[in-house]
Amino acid sequence: RAKEAGRNRFKVFTNRMLESAVELLTLENDMRRGLESGEFFVVFQPIMDLRGEDLMGFEALARWNHPIRGAISPSEFIPMAEESGMILPLGEWVLRTSIKTLADWRKASIGATGLFISVNISSKQFARLELDKIVMKALHDANLPPEALKLEITESTILENPEAAVRILERLRKQGVHFSIDDFGTGYSSLSQLQQLPVDTLKVDRSFISRMKSDPENMEIVKAVIALAHSLDLDVIAEGVEEEEQLCSLIDLNCQSVQGFYFHKPLSKEKAEELIWQRANFDDSSPRQTMAQA
Ligand code: C2E
Ligand code: MG
Ligand code: MG
Ligand code: MG
Repeated sequence: RAKEAGRNRFKVFTNRMLESAVELLTLENDMRRGLESGEFFVVFQPIMDLRGEDLMGFEALARWNHPIRGAISPSEFIPMAEESGMILPLGEWVLRTSIKTLADWRKASIGATGLFISVNISSKQFARLELDKIVMKALHDANLPPEALKLEITESTILENPEAAVRILERLRKQGVHFSIDDFGTGYSSLSQLQQLPVDTLKVDRSFISRMKSDPENMEIVKAVIALAHSLDLDVIAEGVEEEEQLCSLIDLNCQSVQGFYFHKPLSKEKAEELIWQRANFDDSSPRQTMAQA
């Protein structure tokens, strides 16, 4: 009996495996077709200075509107794209689209002056030696200065192949491109590794921010990460700020910038443009403008 049950379980297991293999293949085809037929688009989540008085830039986030399944979340399709290799064309499309969009905004409105666009780069893309050429070509084609681009990578991307990673980082940074470490605190990079990395910004993972209030240990972690960033002369962005109380704690901790639903969810291109136009129409006597001019 036990044997039979075991065999049945095995059968169920293989069927599932087959199903998920078929699903992966189908989705891979769907993705290829969807990329060509315009089912993918980019949304833009504002990154604000701490008090929410100024927009600093946007994180570009990929979205997929599947013709049958509807909206599929990136936490589902990005891992599949990574597994199937589709992340290479998809990632390049997101990169080019994001760069072109910011370049267009900069041409259309002084409200976009000084804004950056931050694009997620997966480790598969990073492992490619021509990444720097792809990035520089996209910037050149859109006529966007490299300083307006940030690339987000995770600790594991760097740890997977530290020498190659540092080489690409250094090459692009020499051209003026900035780098952030995304989801910081969830990986395993050591202090000494971090110190040697040519990056500009740490993005504190949302999981720490969301548990800051309920769990004093998380508050200590956030505090330590911010202090660490400052001592290494790096900027810090707190991810996933949803509540005023979190914002107040972050102000106390001297964090410079935040990203989260408290200020804005990821926005459509049109909604992002509204924010930029508003910024352009800011009254000259406003404190923000005076400070920028000083
Ligand atoms: P991420 O890079 O850490 O992006 C931040 C995620 O947190 C986004 O989820 C954003 O919508 C969400 N978020 C921001 N503020 C809040 C908040 O206050 N509350 C909550 N609950 N969530 C918040 P999204 O857009 O679903 O993306 C998930 C992940 O998928 C991203 O995490 C990133 O790892 C990956 N991803 C998205 N687009 C791309 C892409 O173009 N390329 C690559 N390689 N990965 C991407
Ligand atoms: Mg990110
Ligand atoms: Mg993140
Ligand atoms: Mg995250």
